[in-house]
Amino acid sequence: MFEYAPAPESRSVVEIKNASGLYIGGEFVDPADGGSFKSINPASEEVLAEVAEAGAQDVERAVRAARKAYDKVWGPMPGRDRAKYLYRIARLIQERSRELAVLESLDNGKPIRESRDVDLPLVAAHFFYYAGWADKLGHAGFGPNPQPVGVAAQVIPWNFPLLMLAWKIAPALAAGNTVVLKPAETTPLTALLFAEICQQAELPAGVVNILTGAGDTGRALVEHPGVDKVAFTGSTEVGRAIARSIAGTRKKLTLELGGKAANIVFDDAPIDQAVEGIVNGIFFNQGHVCCAGSRLLVQENVADRVLESLKRRMAQLRVGDPLDKNTDVGAINSAAQLERIRELSDAGSAEGAERWSPPCDLPDRGFWFAPTIFTGVTQAHRIAREEIFGPVLSVLTFRTPAEAVEKANNTPYGLSAGIWTDKGSRILWMADRLRAGVVWANTFNKFDPTSPFGGYKESGYGREGGRHGLEGYLNV
Ligand code: NAD
Repeated sequence: MFEYAPAPESRSVVEIKNASGLYIGGEFVDPADGGSFKSINPASEEVLAEVAEAGAQDVERAVRAARKAYDKVWGPMPGRDRAKYLYRIARLIQERSRELAVLESLDNGKPIRESRDVDLPLVAAHFFYYAGWADKLGHAGFGPNPQPVGVAAQVIPWNFPLLMLAWKIAPALAAGNTVVLKPAETTPLTALLFAEICQQAELPAGVVNILTGAGDTGRALVEHPGVDKVAFTGSTEVGRAIARSIAGTRKKLTLELGGKAANIVFDDAPIDQAVEGIVNGIFFNQGHVCCAGSRLLVQENVADRVLESLKRRMAQLRVGDPLDKNTDVGAINSAAQLERIRELSDAGSAEGAERWSPPCDLPDRGFWFAPTIFTGVTQAHRIAREEIFGPVLSVLTFRTPAEAVEKANNTPYGLSAGIWTDKGSRILWMADRLRAGVVWANTFNKFDPTSPFGGYKESGYGREGGRHGLEGYLNV
């Protein structure tokens, strides 16, 4: 008999432990006054773990542990020594990336191809990148000796659980802060595995604390008076509530909120590549992407050609088991999110847009939504204005570059945009006029730790990534 190593996507590489504990002061502890909730696999509705729900006393304990670690260990530690821990964490993430990728796909529903080839490499890259800054903060453009803020409260969403954790924790630690992070209630498991990695890296106790729980835990954390900085990624509605609740306090705040990006295709674009970019823009991660290209603006004279190609390409997408390495589109993260996608899509049909999906067999159990496009969409339609956060594309047309800019900017959001054209001068002309934090040209959904990311208008404020990402964690 041969003994083969498990396949990269095999579930056997994952053991779910410590799920019923909170990670406070370097240890997994039982909640003092909270309850518990279940985390399920959205592709099968199987319960993966019973997870602790942190209450007010747990928030108190975690903030206190973070403060102690900040005052006694992490704050005074030279940057070059903090860097060593961050490099060690980055290396451990690489070493354990199969385990992390499989667990991410199990808990979130995203295809293993994405968690393995996109999320995990970016997570490690973020820690490597910010490790490099830890002893060079005086060269980051914020004065010769910028100081950390203190204790950071960080609340993240479910669409990129580990990646959002990395975006939050890596710059905070590099800048000398300690953190209390709350993952989303539908995807808490990889954050707890990350806590094990912190133990393995022998990160000093209390530098990173993880509190699982839902909105109430998040609210108690951001409102805690012992917190110096709040970093939130999530919906615009909750972001607004947080901004209101901490207004008038000395807390520093960054918000990464929703989006409704335009992906703009001109008639001189390489159509095949543009179609790949459209598919990547809206069907990557089931469209659960804040910067998803959810509004396709296509120049009228090539609209028929682009749509024909797009439909042909959509018919090739494989929807199904996230742990199958051939899957392109996985499960919708939760029943509640599926309901929201259905409701908005039904509104699209009711308002007169034309709906199309390729023939597509969906599994019986779990939460699924076929890749969908709407044509004949107008600016007034809800599907053109509201964030759907699912695999649903609204298609609008335009005639001139000025009209494309006007339609692209006609949204309360301003996170990202895509431009597809052969002309460099047009890219620059458009990029100057698009009110979006990130503008991609002849590509889409490209991320890199060196590059700042963030929004305008209702998409939030502050930047994550790059040198700019340090600013929110320094007193400058
Ligand atoms: P959400 O706002 O419902 O939840 C986000 C997090 O906030 C969760 O951890 C949740 O438990 C917590 N929370 C809920 N109520 C809270 C409160 N009152 N106080 C403190 N915390 C609270 O958002 P979601 O549905 O999980 O995520 C989807 C949203 O996130 C989308 O709008 C998406 O665009 C946005 N998002 C933005 C970015 C970005 O970088 N701009 C990235 C990813 C997702």
